[in-house]
Formats: sequence, structure tokens, C-alpha cells
Amino acid sequence: MTRSAEAASVSPEVLAKYEPVIGLEVHVQLLTNTKIFCGCSTRFGDAPNANTCPVCLGLPGTLPVLNKRVIEMAARASLARAAPAAGGWTLARPPRPALAPRGP
Ligand SMILES: [Zn+2]
Repeated sequence: MTRSAEAASVSPEVLAKYEPVIGLEVHVQLLTNTKIFCGCSTRFGDAPNANTCPVCLGLPGTLPVLNKRVIEMAARASLARAAPAAGGWTLARPPRPALAPRGP
């Protein structure tokens, strides 16, 4: 059975109860010189972990600072695609687990 045939088999009563809501989570890599939430370099090819700081690492007590260039580039991309962010933009910095002390 094809997907359209499966969808057609859903009763109208069931379809009437639900509103399809489709969201997109888009990940992009911008050509910025520094990372989005700190001033660490985005240079490729450096030694592992060479371009890190307490903010990158999500250490407790650090506060991220949004890279202005990221907003500019995101706005340009949105305008270039004639797709303004109707619902607004959401920038998420995933929470990092608190560091737990290591016992002996
Ligand atoms: Zn950093």
C-alpha cells in the first residue's frame, strides 16, 4: 500500500480531529570567523579542542554572547530565499549537563 493510499484510509472523522502541524529544524553552517556564542575561532584544521573556551564548553557560570554576524547572515539568507521568518527565529543553545566532581 502506498503512503497516499494509507492516508486515504483514515476516516474523515479522525482527520477532522487533527490539524497537521509541520515544523522544520534546519541546521546550517555559516562562514563566520568565530563561533555563534563566543569569540573562539571556527578555523578548520587546528588541533582538536584548540578553539574552545569555557563558554564553548558550557561550563557553569559562563554566559554566551550572540555573534552579530550570525544574525546578519541569517537575515540575508532569509531574504534571499524570499522566506522571511514569519514565526520568528529561535536560537537554541542546548543545555549542558552540570559537571559532577569525580571521586577517587
Ligand atoms: Zn569558545
